[in-house]
Amino acid sequence: MTLLVLVGPAGVGKGTVVRRILDSEPDFMLSVSATTRDPRPGEVNGEHYHFVSKPEFEIMLEQGELLEWAQVHGNHYYGTPRAEIDRAKTAQKHLILEIDLQGARQVAGKHVDQVQVFLLPPGWEELEARLRGRGTETEEQIQTRLATARHEIAAAGEFQHQLVNDSVAQTAAEIVGLVREHERGS
Ligand code: 5GP
Repeated sequence: MTLLVLVGPAGVGKGTVVRRILDSEPDFMLSVSATTRDPRPGEVNGEHYHFVSKPEFEIMLEQGELLEWAQVHGNHYYGTPRAEIDRAKTAQKHLILEIDLQGARQVAGKHVDQVQVFLLPPGWEELEARLRGRGTETEEQIQTRLATARHEIAAAGEFQHQLVNDSVAQTAAEIVGLVREHERGS
């Protein structure tokens, strides 16, 4: 079991790449994070996230149940339950962590077998268009996300691999290749 830490700014297309990997590679699974944000239309509790209250999140934290956690976009808490690692070990699958920069830095500092990939947008305009195209955020939220994106992209070099996401199929295949290569080497 290898952890695949996928990091990159909101709007870079992490979700699409992840879905592509999950659809084509049966030995990969997605870690389900805990979050205090509200579900978006269509999001299912326990499937997209474990939607929890702030007090519930704080209890998970105090009890050491989270591998990493962060406050993202200024207000909401997100974290990876350690139980997800056990779930992946039991299933004998690679576990994809689609997390923010702060969380990825925490995981990088742990003795966990991992492959880190930082996804970059093909260009700034594409990123902004993708963020707007989603149509789920207010203008203020978009501006906050763009500011966070600028900050995050500056940290790309801290991670093992950087990939420009200009083709979902190609990016997904490259990422899977990196994990397979890692498996062979370890
Ligand atoms: P969204 O609210 O759009 O689903 O996610 C917002 C951000 O939170 C994304 O950048 C996503 O990668 C990050 N995120 C989601 N789950 C986790 C997690 O468990 N830990 C951390 N650190 N970030 C997360």
